[in-house]
Amino acid sequence: MTEKLKVGILGATGTVGQRFIQLLENHPQFEVTEVCASERSEGKNYAQAAAWKLATPLPERVGRLKVKPIEPTLDCDIVFSSLPSSIAASAEVAFAQAGYPVISNSSALRMEADVPLVIPEINADHLGLITRQRTVRNFDKGFVVTNPNCSVITFAAPLAALSEAFGVESVAVTTLQAVSGAGYPGVPSLDVADNVVPYIDGEEPKVETEPQKILGQLIGDSIEHASFSISAQCNRVPVLDGHLACLKVKLSVTPAIEDVRYALEDFDGPALTSSPPKLIVFRDEIDRPQPRLDRDASNGMAITVGRLQPDNVFDFRFVALSHNTIRGAAGAAILNAELLADRGWVGG
Ligand code: NAP
Repeated sequence: MTEKLKVGILGATGTVGQRFIQLLENHPQFEVTEVCASERSEGKNYAQAAAWKLATPLPERVGRLKVKPIEPTLDCDIVFSSLPSSIAASAEVAFAQAGYPVISNSSALRMEADVPLVIPEINADHLGLITRQRTVRNFDKGFVVTNPNCSVITFAAPLAALSEAFGVESVAVTTLQAVSGAGYPGVPSLDVADNVVPYIDGEEPKVETEPQKILGQLIGDSIEHASFSISAQCNRVPVLDGHLACLKVKLSVTPAIEDVRYALEDFDGPALTSSPPKLIVFRDEIDRPQPRLDRDASNGMAITVGRLQPDNVFDFRFVALSHNTIRGAAGAAILNAELLADRGWVGG
């Protein structure tokens, strides 16, 4: 049996950090050996430092690990970062500089021209930017690869499917985002219970720009961003997990609705360890997808789409949903690590 790659997690005690630990328990390729967090947690055992919020028990071995500071002296082959964006950029660059492959959930470096922003099923070829990144930043073995904003992951794959089949001209999206998206303790309960908050700091610009990079073309050592425009409105809703996105799309041609459905269902990517059997699960029921019923589809790694209809103003409308801390964060980063291993960028 090949030895597992050793994994360090930056921000290991937080909402996304805990998901990493849950998802990596018994992973066939990766094993958590290092956990890092703030001064508040440093020096404690992980079990003492983290307020464990997941329904499965904290793995005992990880619970015994000592929480370390965010310093690039870890005994690991890969670093997953789930740090607040205010400190992520400098920390992630320092780790890459020290030779670590860094796979980040943070928004800090996502839109940098030399940093791949990757969803394996859509743009695995963008990993080619790593070569440019190493040259520009003088990295030897290290690099930074990012995964998208958790709402963007919900609808990037449906858009990629439609773009590939028909071309996309413009998109209007309204998101209904779960409270776990704000981390822990996140949005005060008195603000969000019995309420909807029509503002999430910094979210709409990310939702309006990241998809064009993801659906862009790698030409030479640059990404030519896709040219469609997106209008986004983002709302915080009193749901624990699962971001929902209501989309309207204008296409370059107007296909039959059956062909739109076929394009969505048919879209897929490489088969990696954490890949869902089908990336886009299509629901025919009149009232799906719903966060409580659909966020755990394929262990939280599938995207559920429903309510596909012709639209009076755009061409078509539909609703998409994904699990924000799994497909939208830790699961997305783990899938990227599996892709990097598959393509020989880590391990070996
Ligand atoms: P969180 O629950 O607030 O966790 C933050 C983590 O960062 C904790 O481990 C915390 O350690 C650590 N940390 C905070 N300040 C630090 C400092 N100054 N130095 C070192 N460590 C520090 O946040 P989260 O929801 O997990 O989000 C983490 C990142 O992932 C953010 O960039 C977020 O935008 C991104 N993200 C989140 C989601 C989501 O659904 N939640 C989805 C996609 C991307 P202590 O416990 O020691 O304070």
